[in-house]
Amino acid sequence: MKIVLEHLTKEFPGRGKKNPGKVIAVNDFSFQIPDGKLVGLLGPSGCGKSTTLNLICGLLKPTGGKILFGEDDVTNLPPEHRGVGLVFQNYALYPHLTVLKNITFPLENLRGADKLTKSQMEERALEAARLVQIEALMDRKPGELSGGQQQRVAIARALVKMPKVLLLDEPLSNLDARLRLQTREEIRRIQQQTRITTVFVTHDQDEAMSISDLIVVMKEGVVQQIGKPQEVYDDPVNLFVAKFLGTPPINVFQGTVKNERLSIGGDEIMDVKGVADQEVAVGIRPEGFLLQEDGPLRCDLSRIEVMGRDISLVSTHKCCENPAIRSIIDAESSVDTSAETVRFAIKPHKLFLFQKENGERIRF
Ligand code: ADP
Ligand code: MG
Repeated sequence: MKIVLEHLTKEFPGRGKKNPGKVIAVNDFSFQIPDGKLVGLLGPSGCGKSTTLNLICGLLKPTGGKILFGEDDVTNLPPEHRGVGLVFQNYALYPHLTVLKNITFPLENLRGADKLTKSQMEERALEAARLVQIEALMDRKPGELSGGQQQRVAIARALVKMPKVLLLDEPLSNLDARLRLQTREEIRRIQQQTRITTVFVTHDQDEAMSISDLIVVMKEGVVQQIGKPQEVYDDPVNLFVAKFLGTPPINVFQGTVKNERLSIGGDEIMDVKGVADQEVAVGIRPEGFLLQEDGPLRCDLSRIEVMGRDISLVSTHKCCENPAIRSIIDAESSVDTSAETVRFAIKPHKLFLFQKENGERIRF
């Protein structure tokens, strides 16, 4: 089922005398989440991700705009009638109940035509448990499970009501690094198997990029860019998005455009056709550097880090705002480690220009 957000807005009133200003947690968010897709909602802490999710599930009421599930306006529908499954960062399982009872819990309250018998409930619970591969743990209590297993129970509990929409708010934040990787693959598998329209909230760009069909990048309540992960990475609309996506992060230099030539410090980098004379911010992705003896960008070499397949050259430049410039060079390249200076040519499609004042992209 598709989800339509129309000018969705949520303002919180300011609290007390010290904090008179209201907060616009979500500001005029319009978007259609396509049926059966996984959308990653991404942005730094406080940008409005959880608020958006809580609006979609009905725990919060918007101060403006509409939410549609399919063709139905659900803006004023209470959460229990929306058919959404929710998973939060803290799994919030009932410690005194078995895994089975935790999973069947949401089914216990079904009334009227929806009411299920005990064996129907157990059947449904087992189905959900199989999806997340915990069917062998049904008799345990949450305290006897690892963090990853507990989170799977929480996901099974969200799936057992066969929701039309699955909403996940930083579901992996409490897991250790290895388990996070594994569990995010699981979530993707479950989503693809069930085809439930899913919104996955995270502040971790790597996580969102790796499992989402589409990502939405937010900043201070305002959507910055929506697209396929690779498209947003390759074509950011502004400096904020460019910096938020990618590890190692993009390298940002102060540059100058004069007579359609871009220079950084004294180094003339390349032609930038159609760009007016101005100061600019220049973003260069780590994979955009090519080692070249007579390359135009001259950096001071700090050290070399070999990371399996790739070599990461760490250098500095007086016009770079990152404390260290990271450039990924393939391991075949030979680097003179004793050299003080390293020279790069830049791959044009890995270099982006942004306006100095507001960070908006300058296309050329
Ligand atoms: P995120 O999930 O992206 O970290 P949130 O959606 O939780 O961000 O919060 C967005 C903004 O709204 C923040 O500035 C936060 O302080 C504010 N906010 C969230 N909930 C409330 C609330 N109940 N009352 C007042 N302000 C709130
Ligand atoms: Mg949050």
